[in-house]
Amino acid sequence: MTMQLFLPFRKRKTPRPAEPGRDVITVGRRVWTVTYVRHPRARNYVLRVGEDGGLRVTIPRGGSRKEAERFARHKADWIEHERYRRELERGRESGWEDGRPVLLRGESVRLEVDPVERCARLGEERIAIGGDGTAALSTAVTRHLRGLAARELPARLMELAASLGHTVAGVTVRDQRSRWGSCSHAGRISLNWRLVQAPPTVRDYVLLHELTHLAEGNHSRRFWKKLEAVCPWHREARAWLRAWPHRSEPDGSGLKAQGSRTVSVPL
Ligand SMILES: [Zn+2]
Repeated sequence: MTMQLFLPFRKRKTPRPAEPGRDVITVGRRVWTVTYVRHPRARNYVLRVGEDGGLRVTIPRGGSRKEAERFARHKADWIEHERYRRELERGRESGWEDGRPVLLRGESVRLEVDPVERCARLGEERIAIGGDGTAALSTAVTRHLRGLAARELPARLMELAASLGHTVAGVTVRDQRSRWGSCSHAGRISLNWRLVQAPPTVRDYVLLHELTHLAEGNHSRRFWKKLEAVCPWHREARAWLRAWPHRSEPDGSGLKAQGSRTVSVPL
Protein backbone atom coordinates (compact mmCIF):
# COMPACT_ATOMS: atom_id res chain seq x y z
CA MET A 1 0.00 0.00 0.00
CA THR A 2 1.38 3.29 -1.01
CA MET A 3 0.56 6.54 0.59
CA GLN A 4 1.06 9.65 -1.34
CA LEU A 5 1.23 13.15 -0.24
CA PHE A 6 0.73 15.91 -2.66
CA LEU A 7 2.43 19.12 -2.12
CA PRO A 8 1.13 21.91 -4.22
CA PHE A 9 3.94 23.31 -6.24
CA ARG A 10 3.05 26.49 -7.95
CA LYS A 11 4.73 29.58 -9.14
CA ARG A 12 3.79 32.34 -6.84
CA LYS A 13 1.53 34.78 -8.52
CA THR A 14 0.04 37.90 -7.18
CA PRO A 15 -2.81 36.48 -5.20
CA ARG A 16 -6.18 37.23 -6.70
CA PRO A 17 -8.59 38.94 -4.36
CA ALA A 18 -11.04 36.36 -3.09
CA GLU A 19 -14.29 36.38 -5.03
CA PRO A 20 -17.38 36.64 -2.92
CA GLY A 21 -19.34 33.41 -3.39
CA ARG A 22 -22.68 35.18 -3.30
CA ASP A 23 -23.87 38.12 -5.23
CA VAL A 24 -26.98 39.86 -6.44
CA ILE A 25 -27.57 40.50 -10.10
CA THR A 26 -30.37 42.47 -11.64
CA VAL A 27 -31.86 42.03 -15.08
CA GLY A 28 -34.44 44.69 -15.86
CA ARG A 29 -36.64 44.74 -12.77
CA ARG A 30 -35.68 41.20 -11.80
CA VAL A 31 -33.35 40.71 -8.85
CA TRP A 32 -31.68 37.39 -8.14
CA THR A 33 -29.36 36.17 -5.45
CA VAL A 34 -26.64 34.13 -7.10
CA THR A 35 -24.24 31.70 -5.48
CA TYR A 36 -21.16 30.91 -7.58
CA VAL A 37 -19.50 27.58 -7.04
CA ARG A 38 -16.23 26.63 -8.71
CA HIS A 39 -16.07 22.99 -9.63
CA PRO A 40 -12.85 21.61 -11.13
CA ARG A 41 -14.58 18.60 -12.69
CA ALA A 42 -17.45 20.52 -14.21
CA ARG A 43 -17.30 20.69 -17.98
CA ASN A 44 -19.95 23.33 -18.42
CA TYR A 45 -21.49 26.21 -16.66
CA VAL A 46 -24.47 24.81 -14.81
CA LEU A 47 -27.39 26.92 -13.68
CA ARG A 48 -29.85 25.84 -11.01
CA VAL A 49 -32.76 27.52 -9.32
CA GLY A 50 -32.83 26.61 -5.63
CA GLU A 51 -35.83 25.91 -3.44
CA ASP A 52 -35.64 29.46 -2.10
CA GLY A 53 -35.68 30.88 -5.63
CA GLY A 54 -31.99 31.79 -5.47
CA LEU A 55 -29.60 30.84 -8.26
CA ARG A 56 -26.56 28.66 -8.15
CA VAL A 57 -24.09 28.79 -10.98
CA THR A 58 -21.33 26.20 -11.21
CA ILE A 59 -18.17 27.50 -12.84
CA PRO A 60 -16.08 24.85 -14.62
CA ARG A 61 -12.32 24.63 -14.58
CA GLY A 62 -10.92 27.52 -16.51
CA GLY A 63 -14.24 29.34 -16.39
CA SER A 64 -14.80 32.81 -15.06
CA ARG A 65 -17.23 34.57 -12.81
CA LYS A 66 -17.88 37.09 -15.53
CA GLU A 67 -18.83 34.38 -18.01
CA ALA A 68 -21.01 32.70 -15.37
CA GLU A 69 -22.89 35.92 -14.80
CA ARG A 70 -23.32 36.46 -18.53
CA PHE A 71 -24.69 32.92 -18.81
CA ALA A 72 -27.25 33.59 -16.04
CA ARG A 73 -28.32 36.89 -17.62
CA HIS A 74 -28.74 35.19 -20.97
CA LYS A 75 -31.11 32.65 -19.36
CA ALA A 76 -33.29 35.28 -17.71
CA ASP A 77 -36.55 34.00 -19.16
CA TRP A 78 -35.81 30.42 -18.28
CA ILE A 79 -34.92 31.43 -14.73
CA GLU A 80 -38.14 33.38 -14.23
CA HIS A 81 -40.16 30.56 -15.71
CA GLU A 82 -38.48 28.06 -13.42
CA ARG A 83 -39.04 30.28 -10.40
CA TYR A 84 -42.71 30.71 -11.21
CA ARG A 85 -43.09 27.01 -11.76
CA ARG A 86 -41.64 26.23 -8.36
CA GLU A 87 -43.63 28.93 -6.67
CA LEU A 88 -46.78 27.54 -8.21
CA GLU A 89 -45.91 23.97 -7.40
CA ARG A 90 -45.38 24.90 -3.80
CA GLY A 91 -48.70 26.69 -3.71
CA ARG A 92 -50.88 24.39 -5.78
CA GLU A 93 -54.02 23.11 -4.21
CA SER A 94 -53.19 19.41 -4.24
CA GLY A 95 -50.23 20.22 -2.04
CA TRP A 96 -52.21 22.01 0.63
CA GLU A 97 -51.04 20.58 3.87
CA ASP A 98 -49.74 21.71 7.23
CA GLY A 99 -46.50 23.65 7.01
CA ARG A 100 -46.56 24.10 3.25
CA PRO A 101 -46.89 27.43 1.51
CA VAL A 102 -50.00 28.40 -0.37
CA LEU A 103 -49.84 30.90 -3.16
CA LEU A 104 -52.00 33.90 -2.30
CA ARG A 105 -51.96 37.11 -4.34
CA GLY A 106 -48.64 36.00 -5.77
CA GLU A 107 -46.97 35.44 -2.41
CA SER A 108 -46.08 32.14 -0.85
CA VAL A 109 -47.89 32.11 2.48
CA ARG A 110 -47.29 29.36 5.00
CA LEU A 111 -50.30 27.25 5.94
CA GLU A 112 -50.28 26.24 9.59
CA VAL A 113 -52.76 23.92 11.20
CA ASP A 114 -53.75 24.37 14.82
CA PRO A 115 -55.26 20.99 15.80
CA VAL A 116 -56.46 22.26 19.19
CA GLU A 117 -58.38 25.19 17.75
CA ARG A 118 -59.37 23.10 14.72
CA CYS A 119 -58.34 25.85 12.42
CA ALA A 120 -55.64 26.72 9.98
CA ARG A 121 -53.77 29.96 9.66
CA LEU A 122 -52.79 31.36 6.33
CA GLY A 123 -50.80 34.47 7.08
CA GLU A 124 -53.33 36.83 8.66
CA GLU A 125 -56.27 34.64 7.69
CA ARG A 126 -57.90 32.19 10.06
CA ILE A 127 -59.66 29.24 8.45
CA ALA A 128 -62.02 26.93 10.37
CA ILE A 129 -61.61 23.24 9.50
CA GLY A 130 -64.67 20.99 9.44
CA GLY A 131 -62.95 17.65 10.08
CA ASP A 132 -59.69 15.76 10.27
CA GLY A 133 -57.17 14.87 7.65
CA THR A 134 -55.87 16.36 4.45
CA ALA A 135 -59.20 16.27 2.61
CA ALA A 136 -60.94 18.39 5.25
CA LEU A 137 -58.04 20.83 5.29
CA SER A 138 -58.05 21.03 1.52
CA THR A 139 -61.81 21.66 1.39
CA ALA A 140 -61.54 24.39 4.02
CA VAL A 141 -58.64 26.13 2.28
CA THR A 142 -60.35 25.96 -1.12
CA ARG A 143 -63.59 27.37 0.32
CA HIS A 144 -61.66 30.14 2.03
CA LEU A 145 -59.75 31.11 -1.10
CA ARG A 146 -62.94 31.04 -3.15
CA GLY A 147 -64.51 33.36 -0.58
CA LEU A 148 -61.59 35.77 -0.90
CA ALA A 149 -61.86 35.56 -4.68
CA ALA A 150 -65.60 36.31 -4.59
CA ARG A 151 -64.91 39.46 -2.57
CA GLU A 152 -61.78 40.66 -4.33
CA LEU A 153 -62.11 39.80 -8.02
CA PRO A 154 -65.47 41.45 -8.88
CA ALA A 155 -64.50 44.55 -6.88
CA ARG A 156 -61.24 44.87 -8.80
CA LEU A 157 -62.98 44.20 -12.11
CA MET A 158 -65.49 46.95 -11.47
CA GLU A 159 -62.73 49.34 -10.43
CA LEU A 160 -60.83 48.70 -13.69
CA ALA A 161 -64.05 48.87 -15.72
CA ALA A 162 -64.94 52.25 -14.21
CA SER A 163 -61.48 53.67 -14.87
CA LEU A 164 -61.66 52.57 -18.52
CA GLY A 165 -65.30 53.52 -19.05
CA HIS A 166 -66.60 49.99 -19.65
CA THR A 167 -70.00 48.74 -18.60
CA VAL A 168 -70.07 45.19 -17.28
CA ALA A 169 -73.44 43.41 -17.35
CA GLY A 170 -72.46 40.99 -14.59
CA VAL A 171 -69.59 39.15 -12.94
CA THR A 172 -69.40 35.62 -11.60
CA VAL A 173 -66.52 33.88 -9.90
CA ARG A 174 -66.38 30.21 -10.79
CA ASP A 175 -64.44 27.02 -10.42
CA GLN A 176 -63.36 26.73 -14.03
CA ARG A 177 -61.10 23.90 -14.93
CA SER A 178 -59.96 25.11 -18.30
CA ARG A 179 -60.02 28.88 -18.37
CA TRP A 180 -59.06 31.93 -16.38
CA GLY A 181 -61.94 34.02 -17.49
CA SER A 182 -64.52 34.53 -20.18
CA CYS A 183 -66.72 37.27 -21.53
CA SER A 184 -70.11 36.63 -23.10
CA HIS A 185 -71.52 38.68 -25.93
CA ALA A 186 -74.04 40.07 -23.46
CA GLY A 187 -71.15 41.55 -21.46
CA ARG A 188 -71.14 39.07 -18.59
CA ILE A 189 -67.70 38.21 -17.29
CA SER A 190 -66.76 34.98 -15.52
CA LEU A 191 -63.56 34.72 -13.55
CA ASN A 192 -61.71 31.74 -12.18
CA TRP A 193 -61.37 31.95 -8.39
CA ARG A 194 -57.73 30.79 -8.69
CA LEU A 195 -56.87 34.28 -9.91
CA VAL A 196 -56.81 35.28 -6.24
CA GLN A 197 -53.64 33.19 -6.01
CA ALA A 198 -51.90 34.96 -8.89
CA PRO A 199 -49.81 38.11 -8.45
CA PRO A 200 -51.94 41.28 -8.76
CA THR A 201 -50.39 42.18 -12.13
CA VAL A 202 -51.30 38.76 -13.57
CA ARG A 203 -54.83 38.96 -12.13
CA ASP A 204 -55.22 42.44 -13.63
CA TYR A 205 -54.05 41.15 -16.99
CA VAL A 206 -56.89 38.59 -17.09
CA LEU A 207 -59.40 41.19 -15.93
CA LEU A 208 -58.21 43.71 -18.54
CA HIS A 209 -58.23 40.96 -21.16
CA GLU A 210 -61.90 40.23 -20.48
CA LEU A 211 -62.79 43.92 -20.28
CA THR A 212 -61.15 44.46 -23.67
CA HIS A 213 -63.47 41.78 -25.05
CA LEU A 214 -66.39 44.08 -24.28
CA ALA A 215 -65.10 46.22 -27.13
CA GLU A 216 -63.48 43.50 -29.27
CA GLY A 217 -65.16 40.13 -29.09
CA ASN A 218 -62.28 38.18 -30.63
CA HIS A 219 -58.50 37.88 -30.56
CA SER A 220 -57.84 40.03 -33.60
CA ARG A 221 -54.89 42.37 -33.97
CA ARG A 222 -57.16 45.20 -32.95
CA PHE A 223 -57.93 43.33 -29.74
CA TRP A 224 -54.24 42.92 -28.83
CA LYS A 225 -53.52 46.53 -29.72
CA LYS A 226 -56.28 47.71 -27.40
CA LEU A 227 -55.10 45.38 -24.66
CA GLU A 228 -51.49 46.50 -25.10
CA ALA A 229 -52.60 50.09 -24.52
CA VAL A 230 -54.09 49.30 -21.09
CA CYS A 231 -51.89 46.34 -20.11
CA PRO A 232 -48.37 46.71 -21.54
CA TRP A 233 -47.17 43.85 -19.24
CA HIS A 234 -49.47 41.27 -20.88
CA ARG A 235 -46.60 39.17 -22.25
CA GLU A 236 -45.04 38.68 -18.83
CA ALA A 237 -48.46 37.92 -17.37
CA ARG A 238 -49.13 35.30 -20.02
CA ALA A 239 -45.74 33.73 -19.39
CA TRP A 240 -46.67 33.49 -15.73
CA LEU A 241 -49.99 31.84 -16.55
CA ARG A 242 -48.29 29.37 -18.86
CA ALA A 243 -46.15 28.26 -15.95
CA TRP A 244 -49.21 27.54 -13.80
CA PRO A 245 -49.13 23.80 -13.16
CA HIS A 246 -52.76 23.03 -13.95
CA ARG A 247 -52.20 23.42 -17.62
CA SER A 248 -49.41 24.77 -19.77
CA GLU A 249 -51.32 26.52 -22.53
CA PRO A 250 -50.77 30.17 -23.29
CA ASP A 251 -53.63 32.52 -23.75
CA GLY A 252 -55.26 31.11 -26.82
CA SER A 253 -55.21 33.74 -29.49
CA GLY A 254 -57.92 32.75 -31.88
CA LEU A 255 -59.35 30.20 -29.49
CA LYS A 256 -63.08 29.97 -30.15
CA ALA A 257 -62.72 33.32 -31.81
CA GLN A 258 -65.18 33.29 -34.66
CA GLY A 259 -68.81 32.64 -34.13
CA SER A 260 -68.59 31.52 -30.55
CA ARG A 261 -70.65 32.98 -27.75
CA THR A 262 -67.74 33.56 -25.44
CA VAL A 263 -64.08 34.37 -25.64
CA SER A 264 -61.82 33.16 -22.94
CA VAL A 265 -58.37 33.00 -21.50
CA PRO A 266 -57.64 29.29 -21.24
CA LEU A 267 -55.81 27.95 -18.19
ZN1 LIG B 1 -59.61 36.46 -24.86
